Amino acid sequence: MPSAPRPAASVTGDPLLLTPGPLTTSKSVKEVMVHDWGSRDATFIAINKAVLDGLPRIIHGEGEFVTVPMQGSGTFAVEAMLTSFVPKGGKALVLVNGAYGLRAKKILDVAGRANVVHETAEDTPPDLAEIEQILTKDSAITHVFAVHCETTSGIRNPVEAVAALVARLGRRLLIDAMSAFGALPLDAREVAFDAVAASSNKCIQGVPGLGFVLARKAALEETKGNATTLTLDLYDQHQAISKTGQYRFTPPIHVIVAFHQALQEFFAEGGVAGRGERYAENARILIDGMGRLGFRTLLPAARQAPIIVTFHMPKDEAFVFQRFYDALKDRGYVIYPGKLTVADSFRIGCIGDLHANDMSAFVATVAEVLDEMGVGLKSAA
Ligand SMILES: *Cc1c(COP(=O)(O)O)cnc(C)c1O
Repeated sequence: MPSAPRPAASVTGDPLLLTPGPLTTSKSVKEVMVHDWGSRDATFIAINKAVLDGLPRIIHGEGEFVTVPMQGSGTFAVEAMLTSFVPKGGKALVLVNGAYGLRAKKILDVAGRANVVHETAEDTPPDLAEIEQILTKDSAITHVFAVHCETTSGIRNPVEAVAALVARLGRRLLIDAMSAFGALPLDAREVAFDAVAASSNKCIQGVPGLGFVLARKAALEETKGNATTLTLDLYDQHQAISKTGQYRFTPPIHVIVAFHQALQEFFAEGGVAGRGERYAENARILIDGMGRLGFRTLLPAARQAPIIVTFHMPKDEAFVFQRFYDALKDRGYVIYPGKLTVADSFRIGCIGDLHANDMSAFVATVAEVLDEMGVGLKSAA
């Protein structure tokens, strides 16, 4: 019978989101949204400026990088980055090992930008030797696109090594760091890239509605006239905001104010080091606990980012994913279905306002649900 405690962080009575975003936010982040601000309100403009000025610190890019915000979900920022940075006559090499790499290719296709793909399986990082060959043979390639943590599987891709190779061969790197930004280190002083895209609602723990691109100033200067849409033109967006402090079109004000609060909480926790360590501990508790119950992870530890963990679906016939999902939801936890082609799987996120006690309570709840379903995983997995 239900004995596991209700989720501790669920102060609002909402279930905890063990998903890759939107994710569980702190009460204080939610609370700052109970006001109205005009988009030309001086208080809002100052808050927005603090957000834009604060973000480059996370990649040690102060002075060299600027933040260009983009209204919308993370994909809007990725599309803005790709279509603003890759010129009409350019060509991109897209590194694919999951859905987000494939989405980048689709963005380039829709925008009519030439591209080629280097694809590896969802549990396999890109092959550096092969990238080198592709870039050496095809001098038309101007840009390489990489995903830092491919959220499809939770794999940590070697962006540092990719960046070194791309720089050595004189090409430009664009990074989708959406689910890694703020949790996995990315140091612009050591890793060469022109731009990195992320969003408000992942590891910074804000609410959804704002994407952003951290762009190397000198590279952004070269993008004038590249964009093929008005709304997603990063150059134009940056010009407007740096001249007037204001967005060209209605900003998601409440999202930005909440993001400002979330950023303060992020820095108070110790930035990338502090947050990354909490997520790493969450992942350890999750993987160890699920392992004791018989669940196997898709990825070996060395490739696993502490962001989201993919587990193989148990083979026991008594394990019906929808029942498992619903029983966990009833007990206050939302997990995530799998998105893989290589294996039947489901995913559990470690990011958001989740702490060690939440992860332990979650594992205890999984044990309880398995018991109720009559699943004997240890023997059957
Ligand atoms: C979440 C995510 C995105 C953006 O997804 P949206 O649903 O548009 O917010 C892009 N890339 C990666 C790797 C992600 O994890």
